[in-house]
Amino acid sequence: MPVTIGIHPSVARIVPPERLESELADAASDATVRVLDGRGDGRGGRDATVDPASVGNSLDVVASFGFEEWFLDAGLDWIHVVRAGHDEFPVDALRERGIALTNSSGIHGAPVGETVLGYMLQFAHGLHRYRDDQLDREWNPRPWGESFTLEGERVCVVGLGTLGRGIARRADAVGMSVVGVRRTPAPVDHVAERYSPENLREAVSDARFVVLAVPLNPATEGLFGAAELAAMREDAYLVNVARGPVADQSAVVDALESDAIAGAALDVTDPEPLPAESPLWGMENVVVTPHASAADEAFPERVADIVGENVRRLRDGESLANQVV
Ligand code: NAD
Repeated sequence: MPVTIGIHPSVARIVPPERLESELADAASDATVRVLDGRGDGRGGRDATVDPASVGNSLDVVASFGFEEWFLDAGLDWIHVVRAGHDEFPVDALRERGIALTNSSGIHGAPVGETVLGYMLQFAHGLHRYRDDQLDREWNPRPWGESFTLEGERVCVVGLGTLGRGIARRADAVGMSVVGVRRTPAPVDHVAERYSPENLREAVSDARFVVLAVPLNPATEGLFGAAELAAMREDAYLVNVARGPVADQSAVVDALESDAIAGAALDVTDPEPLPAESPLWGMENVVVTPHASAADEAFPERVADIVGENVRRLRDGESLANQVV
């Protein structure tokens, strides 16, 4: 039975819809693929919407960044989220209606791993400060004692899935001592020691860098709060590439303002975009990036490969890859 895939305009937040359409034409060559018309000014993005009347029951699959209520009542077999986290999707309602949900987990390890290495290198060598000085045309070397090498420093990676492993591998490659927090004790390549989530504070207590890489769910919301920040060393840096609410953002601000930690790199915030009045914008020891650590020119092709493989599995009656519902 031929499969019809609708590309929701919200994918434009990370993938040009037409680029995904052309990659899907290769990866799912026996499917019909169409880009759905966006409402209003027609621009894509997180908040893009589609008039359900223009869709009716014509689709089997929607590939989307964001969620819309009509997805529940359009006769869909399956929704593919073009990002790794699916925390904005109502898993219980989808389960009740028998609509499968798949995500794009598994393809972000290299771009996020490299970006996290970049944050750590910036802090170790003060590169972010020199960039600030450059814009003011200031030649302002900081005392040599304020710089350090990553080699020999400890990083604690919280969550050892695709992101965590991508980070651990790169940290190990530059000679860092890598420890991690995961729910099962099984060994993980490039991770010398593993702690259970119950021992999170102990795990972070001796690390120069703590990197959050867990999904957002009821168990991880607020996982990193005042007590965890207090357990960190005063010369340590927090990196969040997971989701903003995994860390208690006001506790992070407090820790930074009181010099309880040395700095932070935040690719994700709560809310997003980070409001203009947030004190985080003005802190010289904070690097804010706009949820961009996974950006990679090869992304549309990688998403299309997952969807294409699942179209084949759907046709052959096999279980879907990356299925979360
Ligand atoms: P993944 O599913 O491959 O890995 C998540 C890991 O976290 C799993 O190993 C899981 O067992 C573990 N985990 C869950 N709860 C935990 C807990 N309480 N303590 C320790 N470990 C726990 O997902 P991924 O691709 O690594 O992505 C992880 C999350 O990062 C995503 O859900 C998404 O929210 C976020 N993400 C952000 C970006 C970005 O652009 N900043 C990109 C990709 C993913």
